[in-house]
Amino acid sequence: MELFDTHFHWEGHLPPELIASEALDNEVKYLVCVGGDYQTSLESLKISHSLENCYFTAGVHPHSAGNEAWDMEKFSELLKDDKCVAIGEIGLDYFYENSEKDVQRKVFNKFCSLGKKTDFPLIVHCRDKDDCCEAYEEVYGILKNEGIGNGKFAVHCYTGNLFWLEKFLDLGAYIGITGIVTFPKAENVRTIVKHIPDDRLLLETDSPYLAPKPHRGKPNFPKHLKFVAEEVAKIKDIPLEKLAKITTHNAFKFYNL
Ligand SMILES: [Zn+2]
Repeated sequence: MELFDTHFHWEGHLPPELIASEALDNEVKYLVCVGGDYQTSLESLKISHSLENCYFTAGVHPHSAGNEAWDMEKFSELLKDDKCVAIGEIGLDYFYENSEKDVQRKVFNKFCSLGKKTDFPLIVHCRDKDDCCEAYEEVYGILKNEGIGNGKFAVHCYTGNLFWLEKFLDLGAYIGITGIVTFPKAENVRTIVKHIPDDRLLLETDSPYLAPKPHRGKPNFPKHLKFVAEEVAKIKDIPLEKLAKITTHNAFKFYNL
């Protein structure tokens, strides 16, 4: 079995070589190291070159959007690297609202335009305050306006409702599922999984965050992706090996590998 962790962050917790070898021991063969600002995008680039079967993305997370006036030229340079597979993580986060909404929108817009111009797929983060759909509505609107089309974006760590799931799927989204799917209270995410077409499903750890059961509350690593895969296979009622094949194939397609 070969699993693909489509989204992890390296934050210095363990040497990248160890993370990758432990992942491989647990049948996680492919990794994408995701940037959240210029510094971590650059680090992700370096990590991807030090490992086999590891790629990287460059972008500015909504949490960091307000930190500086981002130099898009510098990001364009990173995109020229042969191990770069996507722009991200980018998006809107109105749950924490660590950056002002206006700034988040502006930065997200800039990266969507860059995606359109360069034809790179986008990894989109979208989170709202509970019972509120403002971020989903705006993310959807911006993607649509920019003409980010079929198969050109993934809504990572999707925890929204069915209405927005259908809207994003109609626009051509891939949907990323994390360890949240194993949390006892996450019945909504298990329902979501049932509604994601097989060919639109991606697996991710979003490590070091969101460790799945039975590691919940501890630092997460790509090697834990199997727990996510097992839960998703159970929900979809298909053999684990088949799910691995489908989701790894999807990841290759999404990232143009
Ligand atoms: Zn992330």
